Amino acid sequence: MKLDYSRPSAWEMLDQKKVFVFSDLYKDFLSKVKTEREAVEEIINLAKEAGFKQYPKSKEKFYISFKDKAIALVVRGKKPADEGMFILAAHLDSPRIDLKMVPLYEDKDSNLALVDTHYYGGIKKYQWVNHPLALHGVVVRKDGKRIEVRIGEDENDPVLVIPDLLPHLASKQMEKPAKEVIEGENLDAVIGHLSKKYKEKGKEEESIKKAILEALNKKYGIVEEDLISADLELVPAVKPRDVGLDRSLIGAYGHDDRSSVFTELMAVLDLKKKPERTVLAFFFDKEEIGSEGNTSAQSHFLRYVASLVAKDPNLALLNSIAISADVDAGMHPLYKDVFEKKNTAVLGKGVVLTKYTGHGGKYMASEARAEFVAELRRIFEKAKVPWQPGALGKVDVGGGGTVAAYLARYGMDVIDMGVPVLSMHSPFEIASKADLYSGYLAYKAFIESKL
Ligand code: MN
Ligand code: MN
Repeated sequence: MKLDYSRPSAWEMLDQKKVFVFSDLYKDFLSKVKTEREAVEEIINLAKEAGFKQYPKSKEKFYISFKDKAIALVVRGKKPADEGMFILAAHLDSPRIDLKMVPLYEDKDSNLALVDTHYYGGIKKYQWVNHPLALHGVVVRKDGKRIEVRIGEDENDPVLVIPDLLPHLASKQMEKPAKEVIEGENLDAVIGHLSKKYKEKGKEEESIKKAILEALNKKYGIVEEDLISADLELVPAVKPRDVGLDRSLIGAYGHDDRSSVFTELMAVLDLKKKPERTVLAFFFDKEEIGSEGNTSAQSHFLRYVASLVAKDPNLALLNSIAISADVDAGMHPLYKDVFEKKNTAVLGKGVVLTKYTGHGGKYMASEARAEFVAELRRIFEKAKVPWQPGALGKVDVGGGGTVAAYLARYGMDVIDMGVPVLSMHSPFEIASKADLYSGYLAYKAFIESKL
């Protein structure tokens, strides 16, 4: 037999019409959802439409959201939960630029008002300058009133922007390593320019900052101190777009990991029959910063949800089988040297099955057992799911982790699967429509299986 590592094209295996229709739904989802809170809200909307009720109004088919930043969907199966469940997990958060607690300042020398920021997740900082940014999030006043902010998405909305240095004066900057070209403290975004006259202690003073605060107060009823109790994020103010003249790719902010969120969600909402095992579909927060925090995959939320359906949650989790749905790196046409070809995913060849993640000598890796991988191969073949094996780059080049390791702690079998992307963690990531649809089919085949 000839050894052949090439996989068939997902485009050939799939009904292309369905691929394009599904992709349009996804783009619609992405344009509505740019933060974890917005994701939770939209998941609730779609779950309700599909007949899910908020726990405990239903104990058969329900959703349970957690602090508006994480959510789980549950569908009761035929077998008792203690015998093991189907678990799907994706993450709602994407790399972005958060506002600091005290963000607003005025720079008299440049005659501009800016916001100070703190980036979130593993970004190449230089990618985020000179890029239109939208301001999303909430501000909670001392009296408890929560104000939703979403500026920059409507084409008539203003946007914020982090200005880079002009090339004419950048000879020193250009010699710096890319890590330092844009420093964290230089990721401040322009928020205003027009000053107004204010009287302070009898003296007249011009202030841009005060004018901005006045406008914020008028629109939202907030004062400067309210920005301390806020979750405000700067995200790329771009809509998902078809990439390529053949419209085969999608360029968008947040494929990592909302491509998994959407495909996992659709697979669960499309369940027609009672599944063999109870399905727990998790959508976690904080993956991009190492799954730390109360809304992350490391929090007790997971175990709590299991306790709602299992007599013995420890046993139920131990017996479960799980897919950690997260994106992987696709072969890059311009940087092939960081990849090992036969173990690298290629755009358009289906959802990627990653047996293990981690870095170096499999440090921090969660590795799926051979037996579990074999079972998945069998169900994907039966359901005609286009899939491919893939790992994140050459052994010593780098690496990465997902929520899989945190699920594995419970003793369940877990594997990583997701869409391969280019330009991961950038403001405009690229994914293939065929892979997106393959992901949906894979998660669907998994929870509809008799495993
Ligand atoms: Mn991810
Ligand atoms: Mn990521």
